[in-house]
Amino acid sequence: MEVKNILEKKGKVIASGNRDELLWFDLDVTPLTQTDYENLETDFKKGGIFAKVINAGSHTTKDGKELQRVWLVAYKTQKELTDWQKDFDERMTRDHRFIGEQLDWFHVQEDLVGPGLPLLHPKGTVIRTELINLVRQVNNEMGGEEIWTPHIAKSELWKVSGHYDNYKDKMFMWNQDDSEWGIKAMNCPIHMQIYKSKPKSYKELPIRYTEFGTVYRKEQSGELHGLSRVWSLTIDDHHFIIRDDQILSEIQMILKAAIKIYKVFGMEYKLKLSTRPEKCVGDKALWDVAEKGLKDALDGLKLEFTVDEGEGAFYGPKIDIDAKDSMGRWWQLGTIQLDFNMPQRFKMTYVDENSKHIQPVLVHFALLGSIERFMSVLIEHTGGRLPLWLAPEQVRLLPIGESQAEYAKSIVNDLRGLGVRAKIDDEGTLGKRIRNSQTQKVAVTAVVGDKEVEAKTVSVRGKDPMSIEDFKEKLLLSIMERSDF
Ligand SMILES: [Zn+2]
Repeated sequence: MEVKNILEKKGKVIASGNRDELLWFDLDVTPLTQTDYENLETDFKKGGIFAKVINAGSHTTKDGKELQRVWLVAYKTQKELTDWQKDFDERMTRDHRFIGEQLDWFHVQEDLVGPGLPLLHPKGTVIRTELINLVRQVNNEMGGEEIWTPHIAKSELWKVSGHYDNYKDKMFMWNQDDSEWGIKAMNCPIHMQIYKSKPKSYKELPIRYTEFGTVYRKEQSGELHGLSRVWSLTIDDHHFIIRDDQILSEIQMILKAAIKIYKVFGMEYKLKLSTRPEKCVGDKALWDVAEKGLKDALDGLKLEFTVDEGEGAFYGPKIDIDAKDSMGRWWQLGTIQLDFNMPQRFKMTYVDENSKHIQPVLVHFALLGSIERFMSVLIEHTGGRLPLWLAPEQVRLLPIGESQAEYAKSIVNDLRGLGVRAKIDDEGTLGKRIRNSQTQKVAVTAVVGDKEVEAKTVSVRGKDPMSIEDFKEKLLLSIMERSDF
C-alpha cells in the first residue's frame, strides 16, 4: 500500500488498523515532530494522496517497545480532504476531552497520576453526583438498598469468583504481608459476602443491593480515551438476588427503570436479548425459565427487541440496552444479566417453605453503565450544553451596573439557599459577560438592570421578564422534574 510506503520513510510500521474513516499506524520510531508531520503531508501530496496526519501520541507494547501512533485520513482529491476537515472540526468541538478541558470539568494527569485515571474537577464532580442522584432516585423506587464495600480484597476472593483464572490480566494485583491482594475489577464478589453474612429465608427475597462502586481495569494504554476508555470507572452496580419465580416481575421493574432514565436524556434506545451459548453453566431447565422470564418481561411491556441466539454469557442470559446520541451513534449503556454461576461458586442459598436450601438467581445490572463513560456520551450528545438539572453552573446573574449589585446578590443568595447552583458575574462589559456565560455553557443567564430592580423581576435571555417568585418557582420545578427551563 502506498500510504504505508510513504510512512515507512519515517519508521517501520509495526501494526495498523482503522476506526471509522481514520487509519492508524504504529511506527517503530522515537516521537515525531510537528515538522515531520507536515513533511509527511507534503510527501503524500507528491504521491497524489491528499492526507491529514495526526499525532496520536506514543504508547508502550507488552514487551516494552515504545511506538508512535499516527492517525491519518487519505483522499484522492483536495476537495474531499477539505470537506472531511470541516466535518472533523465540527465533531472536535463536540469531543468530550476537548470540552472537558475547555470548561474545567476534568483532566488526565499521565505523568504523576497515571494514564486512564481521570481526575474530576469540582464542576465535573457535580455532573457525576447528579447522575448518581438520578439513579439513586430510580433505585429507591425499586426498593434497592445502597451498600459500600472496600476497593481491595484478598486474592482468595477472586479465586472463588473465577476472576483470578479468567480476568487476572486486567486486574491490579500485588503481594504484601504474606498475602496476595487484588484491587476490585468487579463489585459482585464482595457484594455476595454481604448476602452470605446471615442465613436467608425465601420471604426475604428479592434482596436488592446497589453500590456506586469504583473498579479498576487495566486496559491497553494505547486504547485509553478521555472518560470513555479508562482504568478507573464507577459503575451504578446493582445486584438483585431473587428466586426464580421472581425473574419476570423484577426484570420488568428494572426495564421500566432503564427506560425512565433514557427518556430523561431524550435518547432513542434499542434492546437485545442474548440467549444460552453452547458452553455454559447451570442446568437447562433453569436457563429455560430465565430466558422465558426475560422474554415475557419484554413482551409484557410491549417493548421491541432483537434476539441474539447463543450470545448470552456462559453464566446466564442477558438484555443489553443501546442508546443513540444526537450524532446518530449507538452506545451500549445498560445491561441486565442473569447469573447462575456466582451463586454456585459462593454456595449462596436461601431456605424455602419446606426448609430446603435453594440456590438463588443473581441479577447484575447497570442502567448508566460506567458513569464516567456515560458522562462522555452525554457531553458529546449535548455538545457540553447540559440540561438545567445537570449543568455544573445552573444560573448566572448579570447586574448591568453597580447599582443593581445588591439586588443581584440577594437573588443569588436565595437561590443558593434553595440548592440552586447560582453565581454573579459583574466584571467587564455586559456583552462580554453574556458571551462568557454562553461559552461556559451556563444553563440560565439572567440580566438585571434598574427596570428589573424597580419591578422586582429578572430578564432571562429569550423570555419575557419574570417576577423573582416566578423565576425561582420555574427553576425549582424544572430542576426537580429534570425538564427544560
Ligand atoms: Zn455484577
